Amino acid sequence: MKIGFIGLGHMGNPMARNLLKHGHTLKVFDVVPDLVKKLTDLGAAAASSPAACSQGVDAVVTMLPSSPHVRSVYTGKDTGILSGVPAGVLLIDSSTIDPHTSRDVAMDARAHGNNMVDAPVSGGTGGAEAGTLTFMVGGETADFDKAKPILQCMGKNIVHCGGAGNGQVAKICNNMMLAIEMIATAEGMALAAKLGMDPKVFAGIANTSSGRCWSSDTYNPYPGVLENAPASRGYTGGFGSDLMLKDLTLVTEAAKAAKQPVNLGAAAQQLYQMHSLMGNGGLDFSSIIKLYKKD
Ligand code: NAD
Repeated sequence: MKIGFIGLGHMGNPMARNLLKHGHTLKVFDVVPDLVKKLTDLGAAAASSPAACSQGVDAVVTMLPSSPHVRSVYTGKDTGILSGVPAGVLLIDSSTIDPHTSRDVAMDARAHGNNMVDAPVSGGTGGAEAGTLTFMVGGETADFDKAKPILQCMGKNIVHCGGAGNGQVAKICNNMMLAIEMIATAEGMALAAKLGMDPKVFAGIANTSSGRCWSSDTYNPYPGVLENAPASRGYTGGFGSDLMLKDLTLVTEAAKAAKQPVNLGAAAQQLYQMHSLMGNGGLDFSSIIKLYKKD
């Protein structure tokens, strides 16, 4: 297929490379010329704007930082995707954004004659490199079926979550649960250590008891408990605290708009905001344990 790809950052670059590896022809655009060059060096064609990137292709994939970027890349006057794309071309947005913006942009696309799916991912840059991302897809079933073979070049699990925006709902609600569970694990681990327990022994007990969760048994935030977790390499790599903060801000705003209480989600958002303010935004999100222990 001929595919337009817009947003060639940490995630977009390896995702676009995987599409090339599967034999697709790519037209690419990013506001950073060096990032475009990395793809043109591999055989992709450069486009001068999102509108130009959406012409002469069968589908367009976007991987952008946040809601305002998605809105402007799709609906921007003269240069936006919708000002250039022919009707009928499938649009796939893999950015993590708020479900309301996602639904608004999908409606604008539909009014223009283009079906759109939201397809945010989990799996991080490692999953993007390996082509093993999970895609949570919102949109009509027929559009999901059309998007699936493209997404399969970049991911392993492609899940239809329901109508437009539901991919975003799945993504941000899951990450809210993850953040709360990580903070709970950090509090429990730090307290057990402070009260005199060997963190490794305590983790072993929690992991065979009712305190067990992914953050305790696979991604434990206490240094030295799990050799391969970011906690044991100074919280480098992994999923950045600022990215978690972004998702928590999206989820708490979506909850506010829906008048739905998220007591612990809101507390988690505030804790990650404080953690970021203290200069830890670039560290893996399990570094939130720094709020609970000195070293
Ligand atoms: P990034 O900032 O590295 O990449 C975004 C790219 O979009 C940049 O290259 C930027 O130059 C480009 N861009 C910005 N405005 C643009 C415009 N107007 N036109 C064209 N290009 C533009 O971000 P990322 O880490 O690749 O993340 C992308 C999305 O994926 C985000 O929504 C993020 O929340 C989500 N996500 C990231 C991860 C992760 O581990 N990095 C994991 C899951 C989901």
